[in-house]
Amino acid sequence: MMKRSTVLTALVGFVLAGPAAARAASALVTHSDEEWRKLLPPESYAVLRHESTERAFSSPLDDEKRTGTYSCAGCDLPLFSSKTKYDSGSGWPSFYAPLPNAVATKTDNAMFMPRTEVHCRRCLGHLGHVFDDGPKPTGLRYCMNGVALRFRPGHAA
Ligand SMILES: [Zn+2]
Repeated sequence: MMKRSTVLTALVGFVLAGPAAARAASALVTHSDEEWRKLLPPESYAVLRHESTERAFSSPLDDEKRTGTYSCAGCDLPLFSSKTKYDSGSGWPSFYAPLPNAVATKTDNAMFMPRTEVHCRRCLGHLGHVFDDGPKPTGLRYCMNGVALRFRPGHAA
């Protein structure tokens, strides 16, 4: 009897923790810091989980001009469309708008000038910052780290 209930508990735990549950649109994707470190390439881990910044002009996505969708390198949530990408000259992939319900922001006081930090809504991974010197129609510049994004050419979300 004891053994049967233990097996059942393990099964329920497995089902609840499975990828389907973790990827449900409304659910957060969470891992311990150690798990993220194992899951991500070192440069993506440093940016997404520890708010590092990649070197300007280091990301191939800065020059990416194909039609497609940019997803979170941490949890694969689609974040930006190639339709809103533009060349800001900053050396980082730049967009004037995110996809609906894709990112969230918070004020970052790490510098003397407060900046608005942008993170993935689903895994809370750090993506970059948003500034108010972007082009029309929003006037915003989402200045993203390429290593925090994954580009899929083809369909532009
Ligand atoms: Zn994410």
